[in-house]
Amino acid sequence: MPSNIAVYCGSSTRAGQAFLDQATAVGKALGQRGHTLVYGAGTIGLMGAVARATHAAGGKVLGVIPKSMDHVEITYQQCDELIFTDTMRQRKHIMDERSDVFVVLPGGFGTLEELIEVITHRHLSFHDKPILILNVDGFYDPMITLFEHFVEHQFAKAKHMNAFEVHNSVDALIARLDEITR
Ligand code: AMP
Repeated sequence: MPSNIAVYCGSSTRAGQAFLDQATAVGKALGQRGHTLVYGAGTIGLMGAVARATHAAGGKVLGVIPKSMDHVEITYQQCDELIFTDTMRQRKHIMDERSDVFVVLPGGFGTLEELIEVITHRHLSFHDKPILILNVDGFYDPMITLFEHFVEHQFAKAKHMNAFEVHNSVDALIARLDEITR
């Protein structure tokens, strides 16, 4: 069933080709399935790669970006729906509201901030949407180790680790997405 898939990922223009290829592969898979990509509307880094690939494969793109970031992240004007917000918080709120599933690709602080928010909101039952993390070549292993450290020291519950799924390849992540959106 065509669904709205939020993709959180890095905006860095210096990310290696392997990361850009992951974003392109995910975007292509979304487009081929007729999904709508919900993302931060940038043209740079993995963000641009996932959006262009979604479009090239026939999918739709909803972009949400704060007005003040228009030039920083160079807004992808080809979005089928483009929403300008006043703040980052509004951006995240709209992205969260308009999505059925959250997919997290490699990224930096912004990506991590978005991931942590959707995980904590799921713990607190503000939503129960699936959260799929792409972890090719162990990119997110240090973060997962940190999460386990929280559990070990009882700052988090073991069941909190069930709030998200970690997939080690694009194919595995897309296979899971297919199950979810069947
Ligand atoms: P990064 O992973 O740092 O490259 O950031 C990825 C995306 O997250 C970019 O579109 C950033 O503008 C966005 N971002 C950074 N900080 C925040 C934040 N506090 N709230 C929402 N989005 C953010």
